[in-house]
Amino acid sequence: SPPRCCCGRRRSRLLAYGLVALGAGSALLLRFVPMPYGRYSSPRFGCPLPARPAWALQELPSLLVPLALAACGAAAGRWPNRLLLGGFVLHYLHRALIFPFLIRQGKPTPFFTFLLALLFCVYNGYLQGRSLSNYAEYPSGWLKDPCFIAGELRWLVGMAINIHSDHILRNLRKPGETGYKIPRGGMFEYVSGANFFGEILEWFGFALACCTIESLAFALCTLFILGSRAKQHHQWYLEKFEDYPKDRKILIPFVY
Ligand code: NDP
Repeated sequence: SPPRCCCGRRRSRLLAYGLVALGAGSALLLRFVPMPYGRYSSPRFGCPLPARPAWALQELPSLLVPLALAACGAAAGRWPNRLLLGGFVLHYLHRALIFPFLIRQGKPTPFFTFLLALLFCVYNGYLQGRSLSNYAEYPSGWLKDPCFIAGELRWLVGMAINIHSDHILRNLRKPGETGYKIPRGGMFEYVSGANFFGEILEWFGFALACCTIESLAFALCTLFILGSRAKQHHQWYLEKFEDYPKDRKILIPFVY
């Protein structure tokens, strides 16, 4: 029988293909039903949970699962693996423990959406954590490789755009307000989905630095899901605001 490590790698690859299929399937479904949270939140998708604890709880597995796997993974002690895992964990440290507590008057999250997000974070937390703690192997000098450097730079710029854009959105509302306004400034001058553009750039940068099937699967899945959400938001803005900037693109500055 093949060694356990081979079986583990094969299973990890299969899970990565599964993630891409999940993302593509979701994008197809999202053409008909917008992801039911935030402005599209609906009681049809289960009892409403307050936004802050829902975000914190659903994102937590993507922080805790990789940390647990890193504690016993054979490859987690090597520098490239350690830095790449650190980037993933840093993102989810912010997403699970900082972002939820900054939300202002966020719409409740239906239970079904919460559950899907929670399962996604368990799945992906396991996939990225396992791959970087056990299977990803890098040549000596990988930290100076143009692939690693360009990927890490993109990851950093993407994360900065994501956090800055979420900050702009949050500050559109005065205390107590729950309505929507036209976002202005930063990357919103170019695209309606500036926060999503940042997150997508971040995970494609991560994939370039990791060079693993698992990280590429996550980047593609993010593109499928957040690309659909950006398109829905763009359409929604055009319908809601007559003075919405007509030259603003959906997701990719000057292109789409
Ligand atoms: P949205 O842009 O839909 O909303 C972000 C926050 O800003 C919400 O609190 C929302 O309030 C508020 N907001 C948005 N637009 C306006 C506006 N025009 N006027 C006033 N307030 C506004 O983002 P998501 O909630 O979908 O995502 C939040 C973060 O999570 C993003 O950074 C995203 O990249 C990330 N994410 C990542 C995913 C992944 O697959 N990796 C999946 C989903 C999200 P309200 O709740 O009331 O609408």
